[in-house]
Amino acid sequence: DPCCAAPLPVLGRDVTVPLVTGGEVTYAALDYAASAPALQRVWDDVAAYAPYYGSVHRGAGYLSQLSTDLFENSRAAVAAFLGCREDDQVVFTRSTTDSLNLLAAALPADCQVFVFETEHHASLLPWRDARVTYLDAPRTPDEAVRNLERALAARDPHGPALVCVTGASNVTGELWPVRELAAAAHAHGARIVLDAAQLAPHHPVDIAASDVDWVAFSGHKLYAPFGSGVLAGRADWLRAAEPYLAGGGASRAVARRADGGVDVEWHETAARHEAGSPNVIGAYAVASACKALTEAGFESLVARERHLIEKVRAGLAEVPEVRVLSLFGDDAPRVGVLSFVVDGWNSSHFAAALSAEYGIGVRDGLFCAHPLVRTLLGGAPDEPGECGAPEAAPGERSLNAIRVSFGAGTPDEHVERFVRAVR
Ligand code: PMP
Repeated sequence: DPCCAAPLPVLGRDVTVPLVTGGEVTYAALDYAASAPALQRVWDDVAAYAPYYGSVHRGAGYLSQLSTDLFENSRAAVAAFLGCREDDQVVFTRSTTDSLNLLAAALPADCQVFVFETEHHASLLPWRDARVTYLDAPRTPDEAVRNLERALAARDPHGPALVCVTGASNVTGELWPVRELAAAAHAHGARIVLDAAQLAPHHPVDIAASDVDWVAFSGHKLYAPFGSGVLAGRADWLRAAEPYLAGGGASRAVARRADGGVDVEWHETAARHEAGSPNVIGAYAVASACKALTEAGFESLVARERHLIEKVRAGLAEVPEVRVLSLFGDDAPRVGVLSFVVDGWNSSHFAAALSAEYGIGVRDGLFCAHPLVRTLLGGAPDEPGECGAPEAAPGERSLNAIRVSFGAGTPDEHVERFVRAVR
């Protein structure tokens, strides 16, 4: 029974925290959506390589050669994990935020961008200097596709266009209809980038099969917390763009000009956007996590996570004061990410109590998706407010929410303790 597969070993399983009620308890990390704990396997791989650390692409010596091989092999491992097409490039970045900003900086002239208002700020904001259209929050996956089709049909059909969409929401955990949105984008001559920050750790991502043009994700949410992220996909826009950062590694040849200036020939490979000494440990850690997840098998990871989601959902359903937040309905398929409010409770106080009284780490606030959370809480997406805004009085509408999230390393006991604590 794949549901009964053991959790993958992660670091921090034996951390104990003091409780205000006295004594101590093992820490229950239920904030995977912010940063997941490192897989033991990732830690072991990094520790085994660390003594041989050297500069990438820069040295003739043995350790430099070893590091270069490791870095380039990591790129190949990530390409395999994502199901990249032959011509796709895999660029190592710092994070999803960095990856999407890179793509925003590489947009062709006059590119129109289409993005749902429900996106995380990392996928909502980088396009603000482009001709961007923000799409209203859909209430079903089909409505998402229809909203996009309507907007694309009305666009100037001659110029380039890009759609940016999340694969799984960092607020509701709900899965978005990526394949259908990709088909709609392509039918209207647009490209599509998938924000897979919350999808990739929980669900297989197949760039070729889902026919998306680019995928972005972060190592620290994929059990590889060493400062690396990924942008993978079509090479043409990346090759045509100015380098994201100017510097060594991105340039193939540099020469003084007769008029006193400097001429540069930039690389056309992924190195074009990786100026500076690459984070080889970060890249290696991401590749190690990709391999570990593939070896564990997504079928078993998804089944186990579904079993945990059901426990949380069933447990919360028994508490009448709890309202789970969802765009597509409470039963919509989701990854192990779920937000809720508790009638009469300040969400920040509630989250603090879970920590202080039960040793459970969750997150409260607006989760860097202000327009979405405001909509889900019954407000308007343009309502002003900040993370950690003062909470409503009992009976009033909540102004922020509580998020519980988990994944491959989560034992049943953590979600059982969470449900007990909420009760
Ligand atoms: N997109 C989504 C859906 C996310 O959940 C996050 C992180 N919360 C990001 C983008 C940004 O990721 P990072 O902070 O690693 O850049």
